[in-house]
Amino acid sequence: MHRDRCLALDADDPLRAFRSEFVLPEGIIYLVGNSLGALPRGTAERVRRTVEDEWGRQLVGAWNHAGWYEQPLTLGDRLAPLIGAGPGQVVVGNTTSIVIYQAVAAALRLRPERRVIVSDVRNFPTDHYMVEGLAGLHGGYEVRDLAAGRFDDAAVVLLSEVDYRTGARHDVPAVTAEVQAAGALMVWDVCHSVGAMEVDVSAADFAVGCTYKYLCGGPGAPAFLYVNPRHHASAENVLPGWHGHAAPFAFEAGYRPAADIRRFVVSTPHVLSMAGLDAALDLWDRVPLDLVRAKSMALTSLFIELVGDALELASPREAAARGSQVSYRHPEGYRIMRALIDRGVHGDFRAPDLLRFGFAPLYIGYADVHDAAATLLEVLEKELWRDEKYSQRLAVT
Ligand SMILES: *Cc1c(COP(=O)(O)O)cnc(C)c1O
Repeated sequence: MHRDRCLALDADDPLRAFRSEFVLPEGIIYLVGNSLGALPRGTAERVRRTVEDEWGRQLVGAWNHAGWYEQPLTLGDRLAPLIGAGPGQVVVGNTTSIVIYQAVAAALRLRPERRVIVSDVRNFPTDHYMVEGLAGLHGGYEVRDLAAGRFDDAAVVLLSEVDYRTGARHDVPAVTAEVQAAGALMVWDVCHSVGAMEVDVSAADFAVGCTYKYLCGGPGAPAFLYVNPRHHASAENVLPGWHGHAAPFAFEAGYRPAADIRRFVVSTPHVLSMAGLDAALDLWDRVPLDLVRAKSMALTSLFIELVGDALELASPREAAARGSQVSYRHPEGYRIMRALIDRGVHGDFRAPDLLRFGFAPLYIGYADVHDAAATLLEVLEKELWRDEKYSQRLAVT
């Protein structure tokens, strides 16, 4: 597609106005919004307010008067519509790894007669590590790979809606129904789908996700945990911290869980990180997710079309079957990515051989896709990646 046509698509883009709500450095095309989302313009002021007005002026009183104590629940309610959940069903806090642990452990206790955990060995490693750690701690569990395709004796199945490597997307309603029909509980990780499409985990038993990727909550922004209301009274929090207690400020010697979703809160919220997420949610309140998905499919399809067969595609070719990223395989993928970044096109690399390009529809346009593909083709055609300086690995790839 010609660049002029891309500019025309940008001019007609109903999401175009959102781009100016982000701080984006001049001269780069940022295709790593699937790893760390860009900075929303409102964030700095929101964090400043928390630091100066709330902490600085109200001191400890801010726990009551600035709503800090309730943040895990109030932000959970604000985030819920992004994953098809309702109020009182989501808590915000901790990291994705920790909420995965909470969700899978709670599911195991709800199915005490079953001793199998199904996990995907190709999932983001922390998800699988957490499952193996849990199985090791509690003893007597078999961790079975998804590829075995058997759920009939499983207690719980943990999967990511969108694969972090290839961007391949599971059919959430179909898989959830299949898993539950087999008598197992379903835990979805939506790290790579939330904010990139309409997510609906309402039929699942539990769901987890992070807020620093497409949601743009900021580096280290807290994770979230959805618990289906049918489990609120029975599911246990294996990390029974004081903020999940029925009466935290009674300081009782014994743990009594709160009756509602609060029982999944662990302890003191990360107030400054919560402020960053709060600012991002001000933006998400206004975002039409159906348009985000439509644009995401168009951007990723355009990139695939423009790159053609210059690289081996690792993502599904059909737009509906992938998330908002496109991945390619190349044995020199690391050096190619470094050469691209040197020329202002930022993607990332995942071992052993994947180049990843994430397209965040709120701030990436069609002309960006055109220019990124043109730069990639030039790096490949002229073999610019062969420069020695690109072979040395940085700590974060
Ligand atoms: C990004 C991501 C994580 C990150 O885990 P943290 O505990 O937040 O570091 C976990 N799982 C998946 C699938 C991810 O995409």
